[in-house]
Amino acid sequence: MAKTYAIAIDGPAGAGKSTIAKRLAAELGYYYVDTGAIYRTVAYFLDLLGVSPKDVDGVERYIDELTIEIEYDAEGKQHMLMNGMDVTGEIRTQDISQKASLVSAHAVVREVLLDMQRDVAKAHNVIMDGRDIGTVVLPKADVKIFLTASAEVRAKRRTDELIAKGQKAEFDVVLKEIQQRDYQDTHREIAPLKMARDSIKLDTSELDIEGVVAAMKKIIGEKIPL
Ligand code: C5P
Repeated sequence: MAKTYAIAIDGPAGAGKSTIAKRLAAELGYYYVDTGAIYRTVAYFLDLLGVSPKDVDGVERYIDELTIEIEYDAEGKQHMLMNGMDVTGEIRTQDISQKASLVSAHAVVREVLLDMQRDVAKAHNVIMDGRDIGTVVLPKADVKIFLTASAEVRAKRRTDELIAKGQKAEFDVVLKEIQQRDYQDTHREIAPLKMARDSIKLDTSELDIEGVVAAMKKIIGEKIPL
């Protein structure tokens, strides 16, 4: 099999990972893999069944009944299929964000999803974003970048994004949720959010999208042929 390149982007919610990764994937001709969407799909599935994301027994009991597929449309947009149903839009609410964070702490969930993520990277050049891509999923990724920004900046971006999508969002509430998710994601026992030792940290608080894209391209260009 030909060598495939992998760019791992990790960081907390709202750091700009998906916006930037999508842009770069389109420019480089790579697949963009949003791994958060996979955890969100699990959370959405359990939510529909009325299983609490904290209920370990319930999660273990029902996870086998879920088949997740990742598909890409003609524009390269990632779609999430939950037992054959496209739930790409449904999983993008604040409620599911919180539930995904709780669900993702269970060992059984992380194990089931690990191979799925690695398989995509074996077959394609990928830009994969998440929380544990550089540390656990693709420890040998060619480039590892840790994107971060202050909680306030991230909450402002997330609030604007939700409002643009027609959802109700208040800055103070979104900030609290982001802080809670940061805490959960960094303190869980398995694959917590942390910077890989060989990752390059990029703080996006003071940068606009173009600035981040330029900085990322510079970092990537030093490691792999563009
Ligand atoms: O990136 P996104 O905000 O969509 O992720 C939703 C949740 O899924 C995160 O808060 C995190 O708990 C979990 N997640 C994870 N590992 C990943 C990606 C996301 O635990 N690689």
